[in-house]
Amino acid sequence: MTTKLYFKDVTIFDGAEFFRGSLTTDGDRITRIVRNGEIPEAGVPTASGEAALIIPGMVNLHTHVSMTLFKGVAEDLPLKDWLEKRIFPLEAKFISREMCRIAGQWGMAEMLLSGVTAFADMYFFEEEVAAAAKEIGIKAAIGEGVINFPAPNGMSPDETIAFTAHLAEKHKDDPWIFPCCAPHSPYLTDEKYLLALAEISKKYSIPFHIHMAETRHEQEAYRKQRGTREFVRFDELGLLSDRFIAAHSVWVDEREMDIMASHGVTVAHCPSSNLKLGSGIAPVAAMVKRGVNVAVATDGSASNNNLGPLKEAELAAKVQKGTAHDPTVLPAGEVLKMVTSNPGRVLGRSFGRLVEGGSADIVQLRLDSCGIAPVYDPAAALLYASSPADIAAVWVNGRKTVNNGKILTVDMTALKKELDRMSDAVRRAR
Ligand SMILES: [Zn+2]
Repeated sequence: MTTKLYFKDVTIFDGAEFFRGSLTTDGDRITRIVRNGEIPEAGVPTASGEAALIIPGMVNLHTHVSMTLFKGVAEDLPLKDWLEKRIFPLEAKFISREMCRIAGQWGMAEMLLSGVTAFADMYFFEEEVAAAAKEIGIKAAIGEGVINFPAPNGMSPDETIAFTAHLAEKHKDDPWIFPCCAPHSPYLTDEKYLLALAEISKKYSIPFHIHMAETRHEQEAYRKQRGTREFVRFDELGLLSDRFIAAHSVWVDEREMDIMASHGVTVAHCPSSNLKLGSGIAPVAAMVKRGVNVAVATDGSASNNNLGPLKEAELAAKVQKGTAHDPTVLPAGEVLKMVTSNPGRVLGRSFGRLVEGGSADIVQLRLDSCGIAPVYDPAAALLYASSPADIAAVWVNGRKTVNNGKILTVDMTALKKELDRMSDAVRRAR
């Protein structure tokens, strides 16, 4: 049976602006969007009235979803110690196909319940992540991490690069899985591998997803080694394009921002992770001013510790206003684009937008809870006052995955049992 949805006379955010209108779907596609005053469809509505808000499924542009297993396992440490002394040893012990399926799917459930319908992942055993994503019903932009040494999946960098091309070929018409190139960073991935991955990104027209300029230490070490800054060097190497996802980008100067803007680079800004790890505050307001496409993302649960994009977007807005001493920077409507259409731009045509003919990736919220009402400005209500508890339902490719705080697609009790078994082992190993 094909699902048909009909939202009649509701508040709509289409990824660009808010308006009152009606939207219909048929199967996995949005068929019609009309503004109030135009003639709506006949039939029984799925939801109606001003207390219903529909928005595009949100896009979490940078995460490591399987690291949900390590949520809260290492706190209050600098990035270098956090990574080298705590995370790497735990990963050496625990990364497995099973971990990526179980902890990954647990993280995907958290994202769906927070209104995310697509995420860009960078980790290992990404085919397990893909299978778990299809099962639970979320779109995954998977990227098998490329580092200079053999990865926990047992593959060498060259093997991982070949595997990336294989994934790109295999999933080329897949409505759920979107392969990406995923070199870890300029400091863990040699230039020869970056160049090989850039070729694949170009050939298959898939994103090139990498951590950039995350800490001052990294930026200084890079400059000492290469005699220049990261984005300047990447520009010289021809690595930058509108397929480039630069996670973090905290330590970038004005010249780099202009380079990023001129190539159409998308920044995945992760304020919680950067603040928690003491990495700093990315100059997001300045990036936006210079025309850089900025998305807000959560990073992995080990450094955040949650995967909800609205909480992250709210933090991004407040931190930029506070540090700029200027409440007019990053207005709510602009920040909401950073978790919908801005990240959507680098992933594909209708990600993060509600458009006729586009994917039926829809989040329905209630605007009448104690936390939200009264509503004068729906953008501010969504960004500053809503919580995941206000999400009434989520559809991905027209498939209903969430209803009133419940995942409909997998047995969450059984999944939690499997997660408990793994987290018990982590607890014993700490
Ligand atoms: Zn990351």
